[in-house]
Amino acid sequence: MPLAAQTPAADFVLLNGKIVTVDPLFDIAQAVAVRGDRIVAVGTTAQIRAMAGSGARVIDLQGRTVIPGLIDNHGHYARAAQTWLREARLDGILSRSDALEKLRARARTVKPGDWVLVIGGWSEGQFADDPRGFTREELDRLVPDHPVYLQVNYSHAYVNSAALAAAGLDEHTEDPRGGKIEHDANGRLTGRLDGAGAYVPVFRQIPPPPPEQAIAGATALLGDLSRVGITALGDVGGYNFSPDFYKPFDALRRENELTVRVYNTVWGDVHSPDEVTAWLPQIPGIRAFHGDDLRDTVGYGETMYVPLHEGPVDSGAPPPAADLAQFRRVASAVAEAGLYAHIHAHYHPRISAFLDVIESINKDVRALRPYRWTIVHAEGVTGEDLERMRRIGMMISINNWPTVGYEDQHAALGERIYASPPLKLIRESGLLWGIGTDATVVAPINPFFGLYWLVTGKSLSGHLATRDTVSREEALIAWTRSNAHFFFRENELGSIEPGKLADFVVLDKDYMTVPADAIRDIKPAMTIVGGKIVYMAR
Ligand SMILES: [Zn+2]
Repeated sequence: MPLAAQTPAADFVLLNGKIVTVDPLFDIAQAVAVRGDRIVAVGTTAQIRAMAGSGARVIDLQGRTVIPGLIDNHGHYARAAQTWLREARLDGILSRSDALEKLRARARTVKPGDWVLVIGGWSEGQFADDPRGFTREELDRLVPDHPVYLQVNYSHAYVNSAALAAAGLDEHTEDPRGGKIEHDANGRLTGRLDGAGAYVPVFRQIPPPPPEQAIAGATALLGDLSRVGITALGDVGGYNFSPDFYKPFDALRRENELTVRVYNTVWGDVHSPDEVTAWLPQIPGIRAFHGDDLRDTVGYGETMYVPLHEGPVDSGAPPPAADLAQFRRVASAVAEAGLYAHIHAHYHPRISAFLDVIESINKDVRALRPYRWTIVHAEGVTGEDLERMRRIGMMISINNWPTVGYEDQHAALGERIYASPPLKLIRESGLLWGIGTDATVVAPINPFFGLYWLVTGKSLSGHLATRDTVSREEALIAWTRSNAHFFFRENELGSIEPGKLADFVVLDKDYMTVPADAIRDIKPAMTIVGGKIVYMAR
């Protein structure tokens, strides 16, 4: 029976392309047919053309490559939406002079006195022409009429005189706890603030966005995500988080204007045993999977107990027993509630201590296999940890922080980074693994930087950041089909197969055949979510 006779007429067809389906056989097709928000057929151009109903939208791909919509399983986007409209993002800007120009241009578009912000997503090392940070004098000259705040990861920030004045910092201010205010040889402030203790007082001076900007901020952020090919994201809350940050996304969903699928885990902002006690009764009320394919809550995380939240270049020391006891209280409640958990941990001592607790929960509270508990980051996971995780049916989410964090990571960990995260071990373990950006403070939003890093092992600046690389196919599977599992939507998302939601990205270059170094620079020509074109390059 011909294909067309089995399926209803399509209202949208894409023909004459190279469709990288990422189905279980990694088949390549020529064309795809969509009806409503679903894929109805994948095949040859002749087969699919025959299925187009009258009035169907027809796109001639002219040989271009189509991949499934890219899925970011771990980012801090709802928080980012609060500042997005006020940021001059430096994501992927590889020249320091271009970065300066971006800051200058940004200042021209905001009222004098308003802040010029870059809250992460970049590092000095990405500037191929001049890998340096910025000085207070330089920023004063460039942007004299605005406070400037440029944060790198959660590590340090560069500010100008107006920002220092806003926070009341001067030459005489003593170094705060957990921070260092840098002085030059003459005792003048350089504008560099090291550590959260030093930069948070300035960060706190940034006013919240006016309420009428909340939707616009979310819309602008989602627009930028469509531009880089993200069609679904997992939001994991973050420091300084409020559940209200999801309201703009919920409002967009109600208006049927959500252009990226937004799934979240619930951030429990608990810092002390008393806060845990107050928080525990809320956990059974978390309603996971009560939304729809565009907007849903999928579980809990990424933090069980904030004092256990280690940084990516921390010492990797074993966690204090008292803190682990709080981890156990929260994690047990999450298990009792039957929730998925997405658990932040970087290195073996913490991962294995968490696994001690998780194994006992798996035995005493509830068998965790159906809930797919996940360790996220996992740079220092060992073969033994992976085996323990495999027995409980856990998953692993790595992230592409080394694309911009390579220099810090190399300075802290030396040669060890070249086998980090241990992808060969992870692949051999048989665990399902996926990847998230960890945008927008730690890393840029662009998943092609992450694909490039997985395939070449290189940071954005082109330095070798890891020797533990994977094939293009494996990298793409991680960013699509595997990542769908983190939202329990592997039957809906992640590959171009009949029955799945019609999320695709049409690329300007062929991901499968461009030189590996060029993967970094691939740009979507068109992004489609649920059969709707949400982005088209001009
Ligand atoms: Zn994290």
